[in-house]
Amino acid sequence: KAKSTDNLRAPVICVLGHVDTGKTKMLDTIRRTNVQDNEAGGITQQIGATQVPVEAIKERCKQVKDFKPDELKIPGFLIIDTPGHESFANLRVRGQSLCDFAILVVDIMHGLEAQTIESLKLLLKGGSPFVIALNKIDRLYNYTSNPRKDIYEHLKSQPQNTQLEFKERYEKIVAEFAEQGVNVVLSNKNTNPDEYMSIVPTSAMLGDGVGNLMGHIAQTTQTVYANKLAFVDELDATVMEVRTIPGLGTTIDVILVNGRLRVNDIVVLTGSDGPIMTQIRELLMPAPLKEIRVKNEYLHYKEIKGAQGVKILAKNLEKALAGLPLFVANTLDEAEYLKEESKAQLSKALHSIKKKSEGVYVQASTLGSLEALLEFLNTQKIPYSNVNIGPVHKKDVQKAAAMLEHKAEFACILAFDVKIEREAQLFADREGVKIFQADIIYHLEDNFLKYREELKE
Ligand code: GDP
Ligand code: MG
Repeated sequence: KAKSTDNLRAPVICVLGHVDTGKTKMLDTIRRTNVQDNEAGGITQQIGATQVPVEAIKERCKQVKDFKPDELKIPGFLIIDTPGHESFANLRVRGQSLCDFAILVVDIMHGLEAQTIESLKLLLKGGSPFVIALNKIDRLYNYTSNPRKDIYEHLKSQPQNTQLEFKERYEKIVAEFAEQGVNVVLSNKNTNPDEYMSIVPTSAMLGDGVGNLMGHIAQTTQTVYANKLAFVDELDATVMEVRTIPGLGTTIDVILVNGRLRVNDIVVLTGSDGPIMTQIRELLMPAPLKEIRVKNEYLHYKEIKGAQGVKILAKNLEKALAGLPLFVANTLDEAEYLKEESKAQLSKALHSIKKKSEGVYVQASTLGSLEALLEFLNTQKIPYSNVNIGPVHKKDVQKAAAMLEHKAEFACILAFDVKIEREAQLFADREGVKIFQADIIYHLEDNFLKYREELKE
């Protein structure tokens, strides 16, 4: 199919990094860009994402040196709202990131921290391009803020000791990245983007450097990754979340990266009990803040074009699984084919995971979070003998119980961000299968390691 780099879609961007580095603040600041004139050109809240239009990017990048607003070709950014490690795992579809570009936030006062390094590893493994926001520069001694200046010009105007502190902290962080095998350099000094990742100093709190950050992302995505951003009609959509909304029933939140979705489209997606085929009844996006009234929380659309985030209303979504693609079927034959395809994709993904003959049973809400959890178990040398996604059913407990005869310490289920059916729990209690349930990977790991220690004593 003909691809044109003249017709680019918005790059999908996500924010990640260690807790408290300022990910949420950064999102808020980027979102606030044009709050004063939230009419045309305003930033719009979408399902699980924020649409930042090109006008807002231009406005914020006015002061950035060498930035050429007239050469902007992307229609804006689509920034995924859920930052943090766990949700980033959910953004991975079959080991691939849904994001076109990531912002890795590092606190200049703290340098690289545990989750920074994990995020970095995920990015490198997936080959995802990213920029580093060296955040909280306002905490440098004697720093004075000016969000309306190019950050590099502005840093030069700081007192000598402030510049010196910046330099020292920056160099320390460059060395920490080097320890991870990653070369980094300030974005205005980066003449070799193939070898060096760019760093932009920012204050998410005060807005300093955020223009440089946005300018860097805009220019890099539309030049280096223009091919990937060429809008095509071929559908590329991922189910991000399955949610029950009072009055609407079970809905799915979908990030539509490419192509179009229309009301009445027949869609095929993966469910915990096999493929689901259903018809789109409504395509919803949140109403702009000032328009929200009771019962009118959402705006209805007939058609949506990527890249955008949307809530889909349809029948039979109760068993839908997040983290997997959504397809549109144009004919019944195609629907049958896509059902097979969706079934095959899931079982292929689950089968391709290397398991040990003896080990724990692992269950997670999405394929992405399952993969992330397994990576952690590997580093902790905790073997797993079986995996599944979706709620824990009695049949999962039955499979986990097989370990009772081999190695009783492994007769357990590590359940990550999933429900446990009552019947499954009762059966587990009766059989002596332990179920650990948590929403945070570390907690699961801790609980299991503690339990294993207890067994040894
Ligand atoms: P997250 O856990 O990464 O989402 O971090 P938050 O955005 O919640 O920020 C954590 C704390 O750091 C909050 O108290 C923020 O107000 C503060 N913070 C975030 N960005 C900055 C910044 O640029 N400068 C300063 N001084 N504080 C910041
Ligand atoms: Mg946060």
